[in-house]
Amino acid sequence: MGLYKKTAHELHELLAAKEISAAELTADVLKRIDERESEIGAYLEITRDKAQAAAKLVDEKISRGEKISALEGIPCAIKDNICTKGIRTTCASKILENFVPPYDATVVKKLSAQNPVVLGKVNLDEFAMGGSTENSGFHVTKNPHDITRVPGGSSGGSAAAVAAGETIFALGSDTGGSIRQPASFCGVVGLKPTYGRVSRYGLVAYASSLDQIGPITRDVTDCANVLNSIAGHDEMDSTSSAAAVPDFTKSLISDVKGLKIGLPKEYFVKGMDAEVEDAVINATKVFENLGAEIIEISLPHTEFAISTYYLIAPAEAATNLERYDGVSYGARVDGVDVVEMMTNTRSEKFGEEVKRRIMIGNYALSAGYYDAYYLKALKVRTLIQKDFTDAFKNVDVILAPTAPTAAFKIGEMVSDPLKMYLQDVCTVPLNLAGLPGISVPCGFTSQNLPIGFQLIGKALDEATIIRAAFTYEQSQNFSNKVV
Ligand code: GLN
Repeated sequence: MGLYKKTAHELHELLAAKEISAAELTADVLKRIDERESEIGAYLEITRDKAQAAAKLVDEKISRGEKISALEGIPCAIKDNICTKGIRTTCASKILENFVPPYDATVVKKLSAQNPVVLGKVNLDEFAMGGSTENSGFHVTKNPHDITRVPGGSSGGSAAAVAAGETIFALGSDTGGSIRQPASFCGVVGLKPTYGRVSRYGLVAYASSLDQIGPITRDVTDCANVLNSIAGHDEMDSTSSAAAVPDFTKSLISDVKGLKIGLPKEYFVKGMDAEVEDAVINATKVFENLGAEIIEISLPHTEFAISTYYLIAPAEAATNLERYDGVSYGARVDGVDVVEMMTNTRSEKFGEEVKRRIMIGNYALSAGYYDAYYLKALKVRTLIQKDFTDAFKNVDVILAPTAPTAAFKIGEMVSDPLKMYLQDVCTVPLNLAGLPGISVPCGFTSQNLPIGFQLIGKALDEATIIRAAFTYEQSQNFSNKVV
């Protein structure tokens, strides 16, 4: 029926008007999964029966004449580092291969209150460490636009599933770009909320001071609806913000007249792909034509963001991953005593990249190196935050590329972790500063690969970046291209 190609808001209209049923919609997306999944590999687990049962309940509600919410009956997928009660949550790691959480993450609880149809759990780089989904302990996810290329990461399964029509929307997580970069590689919309806007309770921790959960969708309207359903204070997460949550659908207005958009010169880095640069500059011209004012700005400490991130994130990861010791959670590999059991478990069950980061993190935190590395990184983080505070005195939002290139080839960077880390140059500063960012499709390369730009907002001002993104999207024709 081709329902899998539509946005959540289009499908909502059809469901509410009884033109389609939730069962038909679910069957259509499941059929699409059957056709596409062997090539794409977006999922780690498909919860077919649960999905069909959920769709049936929604249809019963509709037939009783009850009103349905914006996401009711809409198929969705959840990144596999977000806890789902009774459904395996592996973080794409062998160490959690058989871990079934006894509780739902707060976002899953909140989303469930809207009765979407959860199709299953989607792939990621192990523990969300990576930018290509090649670090998954199970399989590599392919980019639906070109299956010889990566979908980005770490939420590569989420973005690929949305782009391939294997779900209508997905939840991802973003510690250093993991929602925005795969969204840009797969030609979909991805939003990382302000740190604290969305509860992290039940998100398996990678780097706790940077992690945020957010939506990956076909267009900006769906993004606003999904953010509405998951945002808000949570007493189970002491870092979640108590600030009131606006209705983000109120920002779906086409108007950027007088909006001051900052263009940071440091984000147009050396080695950036010329086609990506052109597409992003074109987007600024579109904004200008729509009545926005483009102002060149400087974020002077940007060049230190990668090294700062790659000290702080591994330091927090090394600490967070201590709990996988063969005792408290997940897999165990025996040994003659406890120490050997722990060593065997961690050596065998963690992948290469996770081990690399645990080593970097512990090194940066160790006595003698703490001041030189970890503490120094925290200080630079403050300078990066200050750059943004200063810039936002003169502009309302900041526009930048999401990534320096379009999707790269599978295997192209695996042997060179540093090169892979450099990919994160445009995304990690926001996480270090805790700011919201949305990646929006803005064109294609000559090889037909999607390109995205990001809009960065002031803390807790997702509303303005959503409005600007919506305005851009309405004037263009790049969103919702299912392949
Ligand atoms: N690519 C970055 C990393 O490898 C970001 C990952 C993320 O945001 N989870 O850490």
